[in-house]
Amino acid sequence: MSERTNTVLTIPEPNVARTIEKPYPNVVEGFVVVETAIAPVCNEARIFREHQFEWHDSPEHLGHEGVGTIVETRPGSRFEVGDRVIVFQGNSCQECFVCTTGLSPTHCLGIPYEGFDDGMAPQDVTAGLLGIEKVNASESGGFAMARYRLAPEHMIMKLPDGLSFEHAAAGNCTLGCTYTSAEELAVTANDVVIVAGIGFIGMGAIVNALYRGATVVVLGRNEYRMNLCRELGVEHIIDPDAPDWLAQIHAITGPRRGADAAFECSGAPYYLDKVFAGVRRYGRVYSMGFLGSGAYEVSILNDIMDRHVSWTGGHDVRFRDRDGLLRMLQDAEVQRQIDVLTTHSFPMSEAQEAFEIGLSKECGKIYLRPGE
Ligand SMILES: [Zn+2]
Ligand SMILES: [Zn+2]
Repeated sequence: MSERTNTVLTIPEPNVARTIEKPYPNVVEGFVVVETAIAPVCNEARIFREHQFEWHDSPEHLGHEGVGTIVETRPGSRFEVGDRVIVFQGNSCQECFVCTTGLSPTHCLGIPYEGFDDGMAPQDVTAGLLGIEKVNASESGGFAMARYRLAPEHMIMKLPDGLSFEHAAAGNCTLGCTYTSAEELAVTANDVVIVAGIGFIGMGAIVNALYRGATVVVLGRNEYRMNLCRELGVEHIIDPDAPDWLAQIHAITGPRRGADAAFECSGAPYYLDKVFAGVRRYGRVYSMGFLGSGAYEVSILNDIMDRHVSWTGGHDVRFRDRDGLLRMLQDAEVQRQIDVLTTHSFPMSEAQEAFEIGLSKECGKIYLRPGE
């Protein structure tokens, strides 16, 4: 029997984060074991406060973003021990139309979003993170906030030699999901793009829009984060509470009378109202934030049809975008921006403090280092 264990982060109750020891992962064909170098904080700070879990998390199963080094493979693997990789989230089926046309694993038909209300148990969904330990008959390793992580081979990519873990770790929910949304919105250098509700996802949208040469207009109020936006290279920051906020947008967009596209990153009706008003006729709106599964009211006639606005949303990296994303992560200006927006890095043993800072909003992206 191996004496090896896996150090795993848990949130056993609200406002408490602590590590526990679990058995070292069991790994089956099609998977590798990754020793995680960085597990960025995403929704875990909110979980720490509210103890409300999404369908794919639980108190002992946390973290979906990560980079690290492969420490174990199975025979026939196309990877080698020592390979440095980024792990994308989930364990998609590889067979449905979403998977076979290069779309996002999070939207794989193997995840029955339409069926959870009928009592479907998340651990039975092998396409999601909670199913990974079940598929491997493993007592640990399905998630990123652990020293050792089980990763499906089709969900990892080898990192180029010169790309650091610190820069690669932005490739998940910070620059990765927003890379895909920028592609789906077809953002170009001719566009004026609103980014509203600035957390790390909004900062990721900013970097992606600037990378494509677009003019970025930020709608935000948190002075700490507005300063980060300026450091990222944003020239137009508008206080959405200002009485003339819309006139300020129109002054930037000229005769088109509104922005070409908008990323809404909060899910707050306040900001949704602003982006619908702030885009032009035939404008495009992309939702990257949400508040629970709450509803938001639109007028089909006034908001969508008369103004001919397109509205979509999503939160994952498409398979087809991985190559372009890795190229972007090697861009010198993008790396400078990653250094700006990654404001904190903590040993995972200090996750308690990391989550408290995450909730303070005096931060950009926060990294955890599970080996420490
Ligand atoms: Zn699929
Ligand atoms: Zn995330």
